[in-house]
Amino acid sequence: MSQWLCLLGRVLLLTKVAASVNFFHHGYEELVQALFNVKGSCPYITRLYSIGRSVQGRHLYVLEFSDYPGIHEPTEPEFKYVANMHGNEVLGRELLLQLAEFLCEEYRHGNQRITELIHETRIHLLPSMNPDGYEVSAAQSQRALRDLTGRNNANGVDLNRNFPDLNTIMYYNEKNGGSNHHIPLPDNWRNQVEPETLAVIQWMKSYNFVLSANLHGGAVVANYPYDKAHEQRIRGIWHATNSPTPDDELFKKLAKGYSYAHGWMHRGTNCGDFFPDGITNGASWYSLSKGMQDFNYLFTNCFEITLELSCNKFPAQEDLEFEWLANREALIAYIEQVHQGIKGMVTDENNNKVAGAVISVAGVGHDITSGEHGDYFRLLLPGTYTVTASSDGYQPQTQTVTVGPAGPTVVHFQLKQTTVNNHPIRKASDKGPANKGLHKKVVPRAAQWEILR
Ligand SMILES: [Zn+2]
Repeated sequence: MSQWLCLLGRVLLLTKVAASVNFFHHGYEELVQALFNVKGSCPYITRLYSIGRSVQGRHLYVLEFSDYPGIHEPTEPEFKYVANMHGNEVLGRELLLQLAEFLCEEYRHGNQRITELIHETRIHLLPSMNPDGYEVSAAQSQRALRDLTGRNNANGVDLNRNFPDLNTIMYYNEKNGGSNHHIPLPDNWRNQVEPETLAVIQWMKSYNFVLSANLHGGAVVANYPYDKAHEQRIRGIWHATNSPTPDDELFKKLAKGYSYAHGWMHRGTNCGDFFPDGITNGASWYSLSKGMQDFNYLFTNCFEITLELSCNKFPAQEDLEFEWLANREALIAYIEQVHQGIKGMVTDENNNKVAGAVISVAGVGHDITSGEHGDYFRLLLPGTYTVTASSDGYQPQTQTVTVGPAGPTVVHFQLKQTTVNNHPIRKASDKGPANKGLHKKVVPRAAQWEILR
């Protein structure tokens, strides 16, 4: 009962309910129309763009919300939600359409919280990463069959097993010395991924995303990295084992930020499984190779979790409004978590931006880098940290920083050029994150393991 009162309270906090929200399963044409409708209602704070096409030629549309759509404002973080990567897991797709309309309507009505969110964050929504799979699933006449059909893309490939396997390189590096961030992609990776995966990887390379969630179904839990187990297989089977990242405590907080703002996820007893606090380390649930979540952490500056949002992968239409009300506060609260830790600019002595500078936090073995505009974002829990910015051709700069519980602490770095005999050393490279880190290593062939995520 108390949970329901709590949920009701949250609902009342976001009172002005959006007009003409339609709760039905949107096919591709209807999805496109809904996105164009929101764009038409809020043209000054939205941009609709496609990151590529599916195997069957459907656009992978992204709706962006920002006070300056299409423009990265330095020190304003980029956030993304991705849904419907598995074609038969459809709640996230409907939730992102609802969220899009909600953001638009609330902004129009002057909701202070939503206005601040859009002014301070650039939000990207990809409602369907697998529109072809969705159509296969939705075409089934029985709901039980919809739950079981259409998971893969039109080439029969599971997109959440289709990203380059950087975990194997990272685990190799752990033993032999080497990096666990911005790991270079293997040669000919483009030939090994599906069109939808390729589009998403290029998207990740084009925007300096800071925080993200990947919306799935089949359970109700917030799942955080790593997904792929640290241990080797024993007789061909990956054994479930907790496989934390260097940012484990932060990831738990991010995951709880969703589960506790959700109607019941935090209770943990969902769909027959039990997850304390409604969260789980991915590998401790079951090991998964070549997933998108770990790829975000190992290749980019983005921290991503995977949200399982419904026991039924293809919920009944009558349940959509109820599910939206259960997830609405959580979807907003999770985006707001992008505003924590430290952020700022990395410049040289002449105030020129320094892109690709490495930001290291003592005691946290995972670095992030400044983006092409010279700004950086490092999510951190409250505390005092020793932070160093470094870049080829410059002297590293170290600062002691205290992070409070509310909002990010702004910390700028101004790097001096390295000099020899009073002549600056020419900057060795200004390569982006993708080119930093280790050289290619020979790694064992990745294992496959298929269940839900
Ligand atoms: Zn899934």
